[in-house]
Amino acid sequence: MAAHLLSSSIPAASLRPDPPSSPHRPGYAATRHPDFPALHISPLILRRPPPLSVAMAASPTAVEVDGTAPATKPSKSLPFRVGHGFDLHRLEPGYPLIIGGIDIPHDRGCEAHSDGDVLLHCVVDAILGALGLPDIGQIFPDSDPKWKGAPSSVFIKEAVRLMDEAGYEIGNLDATLILQRPKLSPHKEAIRSNLSKLLGADPSVVNLKAKTHEKVDSLGENRSIAAHTVILLMRK
Ligand SMILES: [Zn+2]
Repeated sequence: MAAHLLSSSIPAASLRPDPPSSPHRPGYAATRHPDFPALHISPLILRRPPPLSVAMAASPTAVEVDGTAPATKPSKSLPFRVGHGFDLHRLEPGYPLIIGGIDIPHDRGCEAHSDGDVLLHCVVDAILGALGLPDIGQIFPDSDPKWKGAPSSVFIKEAVRLMDEAGYEIGNLDATLILQRPKLSPHKEAIRSNLSKLLGADPSVVNLKAKTHEKVDSLGENRSIAAHTVILLMRK
C-alpha cells in the first residue's frame, strides 16, 4: 500500500509508520484493534445530533480550515459526512482476481497474500475517511496478528460497525473500478449485489462503474487495477 499523508491533528498514538502491507497483504483478523479506543470517535458517538437547522447553521464553523480541530474529534456533529477512498494493486499471474468479494475469471490477479480485494479496501477507506479516521492500513495493521488471515469482508464489516457506532448510515456510494481486462460488465451486478449485502445497504444506493485506462500505463497494460469510491454518510 502506498504511504499515506496524515493530518498533524491525528493523535500521536496513531502516527506510527504505515505498515508495509496491511490489508493488501496477508493477514488481518476480525477483532477490534487495541488502538481503536485511542482512535475512537466518541464525540460522534456520544453527542446527540442537533436539529438539522442548528447543525446547518453551525456548519461554517465546523470546517476547521486552520487545522486546529483533531480529525478524530470533530467539533460538530454533522448531519452528513462525505468520504473518498482510493486503492491500487499490481496484477500478476498466479493470483485470483477478487473484486467486491466475487472471484472474477482472469489470467492474473492481485499480488497479495490476502484476497487483495481492491474494491473492498477502497470502500473501507471511504467509510473511514467519512468518519474522520485514519486509513485502512493503520486501523488494521498486518503487524497485528489479530488481522492475520481474514478476508477483506472483515474490514467492511468493521468499518460498518464503526459507522453505526458513530451514529451514521450510508446515504449513497459511488465506486469506479479501473482496469483494462477482463470486461466487468458480466460481473458488475454480482459485485454490486455482494457489496450491498456486505454494507447492509439497499442496492439502490450502491453504484458501481467500470472503465478501462485506454491501454496506457500499468492500468491500461493489464498490470494493475485501481478503484475510487465516494460515499455519503447520513446521521441516523
Ligand atoms: Zn488494497
